[in-house]
Amino acid sequence: MSKDVILGVCVICGKEIKSKWGAMQKDGLWICAGSCSRTYDKEKKTWSLEKWDELRRRQAEYDQASLQELPDKVKAAVGDKKVVGFVTGFGLIKKLTATIIVTEDSIVFYDPKITGADKTEIPFPQIVSAMYMLEIGVPSFSVTTQSGTTKLILSGSKKDTHEPALALFNILKEKLSELAAVPISETHNKGLIKEVWSFYAPPQLAVMGTKHSENKTTESIIDQIKKLAELRDARILSPEEFENKKKELLARL
Ligand SMILES: [Zn+2]
Repeated sequence: MSKDVILGVCVICGKEIKSKWGAMQKDGLWICAGSCSRTYDKEKKTWSLEKWDELRRRQAEYDQASLQELPDKVKAAVGDKKVVGFVTGFGLIKKLTATIIVTEDSIVFYDPKITGADKTEIPFPQIVSAMYMLEIGVPSFSVTTQSGTTKLILSGSKKDTHEPALALFNILKEKLSELAAVPISETHNKGLIKEVWSFYAPPQLAVMGTKHSENKTTESIIDQIKKLAELRDARILSPEEFENKKKELLARL
């Protein structure tokens, strides 16, 4: 994300959020990590419907503005989907930079090559595990589904690509945690030349579709829809967000 793009305004202190580093999104709104985030959790229950509407309207304007700032190739790679974040690696030939994009419901690996762009889109429910690796200063993402592993190295990238790439990985984790009824498991190994952050999707995502977990999955999906309906009734989710999420969940039954 370009440094000049304002992603939103912290709903507690009013500070402009220009990078996902040190900030987070809750209920679709931006908040500084740390004390603002804790204050938000306490205060949001007391907010009026008018205040929620106003905050949502303002955030939608920022979302629109930051989408317009997206590089053309990112727009082309995801079409009409809402981009949650992306990171670009600098290649030897600048025109051929590789991009990793996280949308509302998928991760997209976009690898332009002289012979034509290589694009792989993986919907969240198919992800069994994901790994972020930093080797000799070069970040890479790999995502494993039941049919195999897709890896993209941000080749020739500057060392400072690491920070935004790791931030994007954390967004991916957050998105998958939203889908998961139980917490994802995580490992982190730090070495001299290699650092690895990896996580594994919970069983109801990983073994989806197998007979063994069918009943449990159905129950947990219905529970999740009920919870989402409560959030919609409390006006934390918009009716449209609720419908989208419901559709997503029902598709997994
Ligand atoms: Zn703040």
